[in-house]
Amino acid sequence: MEYFELMLNDCNKEQLVFTEDMYNKFITYKDLIKSWNEKINLTAITDDEEIIKKHFIDSIKVFRFDYFKEAKDIIDIGTGGGFPGIPIKIVNENINMVLLDSLNKRVNFLNEVIKQLRLSNIQTIHGRAEDFSQDKNYREKFDIATSRAVANLTVLSELCLPYVKVNGYFVALKGPSVDIEVSEAKNAIGTLGGRLHDIIKVEIENSDLKHNLVIVKKIKETPKQFPRKAGIISKRPLK
Ligand code: SAM
Repeated sequence: MEYFELMLNDCNKEQLVFTEDMYNKFITYKDLIKSWNEKINLTAITDDEEIIKKHFIDSIKVFRFDYFKEAKDIIDIGTGGGFPGIPIKIVNENINMVLLDSLNKRVNFLNEVIKQLRLSNIQTIHGRAEDFSQDKNYREKFDIATSRAVANLTVLSELCLPYVKVNGYFVALKGPSVDIEVSEAKNAIGTLGGRLHDIIKVEIENSDLKHNLVIVKKIKETPKQFPRKAGIISKRPLK
């Protein structure tokens, strides 16, 4: 129960219930990360406490934005080793979670995590974000699209906003300084049907980690021509 208190305190701060069953799932997940990381590149972070703080607690901090407690359908774009999607799912099993990543090895890892943790109502997709959002089963079907460490906010908005229902939210987990990135992305966000809703500063207790949740509300449908094709989005970012 070495890290139980650490995670319990953090969940309490976000008004989340934290059980022994959830803790056991996190420990199994941590052990899977460490063993698979020897075969495929999942993360540069390999120390137990660092995994708990920098991946698990960092992901759970999205609940600082209250809407996560009532959202039903969430997609995590460029989820990699499952962040923030898997920790969100562990602490709120009522959520229907979709984890999307373009790297098949990581998707195979996620499928193994889902099996070993016996998670239900969770689906993985191997593919590019810009391809799946043209599929009517995924376009504008989610209460929230999340993403951490995938691209700058302008590019990310084009990848994520098409998945979000009108009145839903796109939540980007960003580093300590976001002001320039946010002001550069403002026009693109508007073009894609969004409006900046809030920026929530988050600190991880007992560490020097600071990040920002950039929250964008979807206020109208994303025009059909977005997202553009892979490559074009980053080569010619929306102005
Ligand atoms: N979100 C995870 C995290 O915070 O640890 C992973 C971050 S990793 C730096 C970026 C991930 O995004 C990679 O796993 C990569 O395969 C995925 N990715 C990048 N561009 C993508 C795209 N257009 N569609 C889907 N996945 C993408």
